[in-house]
Amino acid sequence: MTPELETKLKSCQNLPSPPTIAIQIISLAKEPDIDLGRILHLLNCDPALASKILRTANSPIYPFGKTVESLRQALVVLGLNATISLALSFTLVQSLQTMKEGGLDYSLYWKRALIAGTACRILGKVCQVTEIEEVYLAGLLQDIGMLALDQVFPDLYVTLPSPQSNHLEILAHENQVLGITHEEVGSWLLTQWNFPDRLGLAVSKIEDSPQIPIHNELATFISCVSLSGSIAEIFLRETSEGDIQRIKTEAQSLLGLSPDSLIEILESMKTQLPELERLFETDLQLWQNPQTILEQARESLLIRNLQAIKQVEELQISNATMAYEFKHLEEDNRRDALTGVLNRANLDTSLASAFEAAIKNKECLTLVFCDLDKFKSVNDTYGHQIGDVVLRSAAQLLQVKLRGTDSLGRYGGEEFVLILPNAPQDIGEKVCERILKAFRETTHKASTEDSITVTISLGIATHGPEQVYSTLSDLLRDADEAVYYSKIHGGNRFTTSSFLKAEQLA
Ligand code: GH3
Ligand code: MG
Ligand code: MG
Repeated sequence: MTPELETKLKSCQNLPSPPTIAIQIISLAKEPDIDLGRILHLLNCDPALASKILRTANSPIYPFGKTVESLRQALVVLGLNATISLALSFTLVQSLQTMKEGGLDYSLYWKRALIAGTACRILGKVCQVTEIEEVYLAGLLQDIGMLALDQVFPDLYVTLPSPQSNHLEILAHENQVLGITHEEVGSWLLTQWNFPDRLGLAVSKIEDSPQIPIHNELATFISCVSLSGSIAEIFLRETSEGDIQRIKTEAQSLLGLSPDSLIEILESMKTQLPELERLFETDLQLWQNPQTILEQARESLLIRNLQAIKQVEELQISNATMAYEFKHLEEDNRRDALTGVLNRANLDTSLASAFEAAIKNKECLTLVFCDLDKFKSVNDTYGHQIGDVVLRSAAQLLQVKLRGTDSLGRYGGEEFVLILPNAPQDIGEKVCERILKAFRETTHKASTEDSITVTISLGIATHGPEQVYSTLSDLLRDADEAVYYSKIHGGNRFTTSSFLKAEQLA
């Protein structure tokens, strides 16, 4: 480890670093008397972590016989140190697997880490290592230096022939380019993170160092990690007969394992790997590209949003449809079926509110009573059906002569009332002149053969400064009397109530 490289690694912003929970677990693990309550509290701080510990305790890897329901029970089943090591593995993998995409094949990296970890656990059991989960952790982290080197030298692994599954090639490449391997860097990193010493030693693979006496537990621990890396290769790439021979020799010399026991270990790994992948929730395909996961998440969010928008739109549409239909229903209730003008009930309401408004706002209000001339003879001549058509046509003729604020209602039979709010008498007279002219000039097309002309008689009464009415019925009665006057004077004319009154006084 050169000082330059050390500085580079230390100043690298993206260098893998353990999450807060992991740091706290490490410092707790270092205490000679670990407080069970504190470790439980720590695990409970991270619900994802707690659930993974529980799932592990319930997984076939730890056949316990009955369901482990609490973290406290899990601690009993797994043992304190195993729990700590597992918790560390989970939090580390969780935080490290989101690193940047680079020259390093991340999918392959994590596959190798998981496979090597699993190999370590099985080897540890076979070789009676006491801290199984710690040897698992060492196996999992043995190539952590690759993550660090990839961050500091982004081009380092780009030139490596793909797939990057031959570990000896990787080590040779690192040595050639940097004069150092990821094993040394990883060991340095674990020391920086304050991990127990034997993890750092195991990752550096210096098992043949003279300071470690052979056949002691530390040597076995380190050998398990070393052999696990070679075993992982079997699962990751096509291995030649030569490779297999080399691993067999390694197993024999490092741990005293016979070729048959090695085969047994491989078989056992095959059954444990899927379970382990599940525990780490490692859809390895997805790991390959964290961007994809993000995009998928975004996509599903977008789809959800679109669905919500669609639902809102549909609700709005149905609301609008309902409002529209309701309005039409209301309109239908307000309208006279034959002529389409206000029916009698609504005419009465409109008259009342127009009169009330006129009083309140001290405005004029002119009413025009309309009665078709000699309509009985239309029915008599052409029949009732044609009479109906003419009646409807006449009502429409009245309607088109009105302003937006005016209204027209059918009083009964061939009689209509016009309401002209805020109109003095002279405006009423002008309206009446227009109506009379229109009726004289219009032939109502009642059938293919028959074109019929009808005239109309009108009576005007105005509530205004000249004549203040105290009741609506008085006003209406005066309009009715005026139309009667028009009628007895031959029809086809209008009469104002004021004229009629002056006449009566004279
Ligand atoms: P006048 O000039 O005196 O008003 O004569 P008129 O025949 O119009 O008046 P009268 O009150 O004697 O008769 C009204 C007629 O209007 C009688 C009725 O046949 C006709 N009428 C009333 N309502 C309807 C209707 O809904 N459809 C048809 N076709 N005719 C109607
Ligand atoms: Mg009449
Ligand atoms: Mg009539």
